[in-house]
Amino acid sequence: MEKETCTFSYCERPEVIEHETDFLILGGGMSACGAAFEACQWATPKGLRVTMVDKAATDRSGAVAQGLSAINTYMGGNKIEDYVKYVRTDLMGIIREDLVFDLGRHVDNSVHLFEEWGLPIWKKGDDGFSLDGLQAKDAEKPLLKDIASNEEREKLVVRSGKWQVMINGESYKVIVAEAAKKALEHNRKATGVDQNHFERVFITKPIMDANVPNRIAGAIGVSVRENKVYVFKAKAILNGMGGAVNVFRPRSIGEGMGRAWFPVWNSGSGYYFGMQAGAEMTLMENRFVPMRFKDGYGPVGAWFLFFKAKALNAMGEDPAVKYGDAVERDYPGYGKAMGTCLRNHVSMISMRAGEGPIKMQTHTAMQAMGKGFKEKLGDKEGAKKLKHLEAEAWEDFLDMTIAQAGMWAASDIEPDREPSELIPSEPYLLGSHAGCAGFWVSGPGDIKGAPAEWSWGYNRISTVQGLFMAGDVVGASGHKFSSGSHAEGRIVGKNAIAFILDNMGYKPVLKNKIDALVAELYLPFEIYEKYKTYTTSGTFPPNDPRNVSPHYIKPDMYQKRLMKIMDEYVGGIATWYVTSKTLIEEGLKKLAVLEEDGARLAAANLHELLRCWENYHRVWAAETHARHILFRQESRYPGYYYRADFPKIDDTNWKCFVNSRYNVETNTWEFKKVPYVQMFP
Ligand SMILES: Cc1cc2nc3c(=O)[nH]c(=O)nc-3n(C[C@H](O)[C@H](O)[C@H](O)COP(=O)(O)OP(=O)(O)OC[C@H]3O[C@@H](n4cnc5c(N)ncnc54)[C@H](O)[C@@H]3O)c2cc1C
Repeated sequence: MEKETCTFSYCERPEVIEHETDFLILGGGMSACGAAFEACQWATPKGLRVTMVDKAATDRSGAVAQGLSAINTYMGGNKIEDYVKYVRTDLMGIIREDLVFDLGRHVDNSVHLFEEWGLPIWKKGDDGFSLDGLQAKDAEKPLLKDIASNEEREKLVVRSGKWQVMINGESYKVIVAEAAKKALEHNRKATGVDQNHFERVFITKPIMDANVPNRIAGAIGVSVRENKVYVFKAKAILNGMGGAVNVFRPRSIGEGMGRAWFPVWNSGSGYYFGMQAGAEMTLMENRFVPMRFKDGYGPVGAWFLFFKAKALNAMGEDPAVKYGDAVERDYPGYGKAMGTCLRNHVSMISMRAGEGPIKMQTHTAMQAMGKGFKEKLGDKEGAKKLKHLEAEAWEDFLDMTIAQAGMWAASDIEPDREPSELIPSEPYLLGSHAGCAGFWVSGPGDIKGAPAEWSWGYNRISTVQGLFMAGDVVGASGHKFSSGSHAEGRIVGKNAIAFILDNMGYKPVLKNKIDALVAELYLPFEIYEKYKTYTTSGTFPPNDPRNVSPHYIKPDMYQKRLMKIMDEYVGGIATWYVTSKTLIEEGLKKLAVLEEDGARLAAANLHELLRCWENYHRVWAAETHARHILFRQESRYPGYYYRADFPKIDDTNWKCFVNSRYNVETNTWEFKKVPYVQMFP
């Protein structure tokens, strides 16, 4: 088909707004808010400008948008070395220990700030029982920052597992965003800038420097509310645009379309942005498959950890016990302390053996807790305590995954009275939860045992000059979660300002012509307007996905095609996460055709334009993922994915990082193995 270009003959030309800043923060989630808060402190006294751009409203954007009930990474009285070992075990032995250790030594400070800013953190009461955040305040329990030692803090916080602390977190993101917005506002006034916080602006592409090779100079994005395109120029940029969902076909389709574990707005922009700039990636073969309450994707962690609830198969057996030996036999050395993927694996063995469904025994866990309370406190007080705990359990869903509460109500399930079904979800790409797919970044350089080549000057800078990474897009260092992503953003904030100050002579010059970039961005509009009368159906409204045309493809259909390819060829739910060389090669052929068809994506309105670009981003994230799995000839993450042609873990040949780089000029990929170094015994 003839290649289309946008000459604005059919669609309206947008207003183009150019904005120059010193430090540009892309994203408005946990890492971006951390970066804004920290960077402004260093930038403002030096007269440097900081700008944040978020595709949504920062108060409720990103993976924490709906709130959380636990902060998953808090060291307290634990040893940072133990945190490194826990992350290493969970991620099957291969992590960047320098990055993880560095995170561990900084993360608590972010948690203390959250509490100071108003986030209620649970504390232990004088009777040894937990007080929720409000009760702790009424009981005049001190703030964590005001406690003298980590050991004393450890005695006071309420842990749900070794690393988690319980919070009343419905407004968590609003609180974190407020601090970032205040810092930005202070910076804006001090530097005399009109605007430095852009919301509902969707970043589509990086722009490289015209004169300095391998240096980023800016980014382009589009308003999702107005007919405006934004072109940003900066001396340093943070990519904090999160991970990728809806790359694989979700379990909930049709009736449940839009339900997923990972919020649907995390569309792979972070991966696309960095790879199009030429940044090196690592462990993109990794993915996250959470075992969650079926259909509602509600969180199971707190029930597992806090209420000590068990997940049993239909025979009443614990798959981890029943199949623990099989895991050690098939994956020697990995069965004793099973990582998240292997815990999925045992449930999958059980389900494949016809022993499903797996159900979490929430009701017996609650009964056992209630019994313990009554024994300690007497019938009346014990019952009261249990009621309060039940309310907390409900809050767990209401503040995090309200859809789960709705699902249970709609299907007549009372989880405190009967077991609730669990299922492994479709795969997601991310690097801050129990996954580690992302970019290869510089470490801090001061941690003993780290190879010298793991640090190239500025902490968390990518292999592209001026381009920093934080949160979900950083590879080989998962289990940062919300607090760690914020802390990592702060690390970047400080280092990016140092980078700018060290390179004050640099002036960004954009490599691409703005007109050409704008035309590329608006092409889906032009295509739609040009061909909208050729559609086969006059019965549906213009933006209805059922409108089929020989000249274009709507984003909804395009996304479904992508999800189907990934599902069937790259190990989604259709094949129980199984793939192979031949399957991936076939899938890559289909992805190539899909990418070609991307030139015919059509948008009837600004929302569909956003959806078109989300698809471009997803497709590239998907292809990188597929190519990485193809390169690594083993099954490193059983329970996340399986290479049927290499079903074992092969430590002799593959206990290494797999790094890749996409060359946008030549449209080629380079892959290499990078030695893994264990720094902590
Ligand atoms: C379902 C779920 C449950 C979780 N539960 C917990 C928990 O209980 N405890 C805990 O500590 N952590 C939890 N986490 C982890 C935590 O949410 C993440 O680690 C953290 O949010 C990652 O931070 P981030 O900045 O990388 O991404 P996010 O916080 O997701 O932010 C990404 C940002 O990028 C913006 N963006 C995306 N694309 C673009 C674009 N093209 N242009 C402009 N902006 C863009 C988004 O609007 C958003 O502001 C959970 C995560 C998920 C998904």
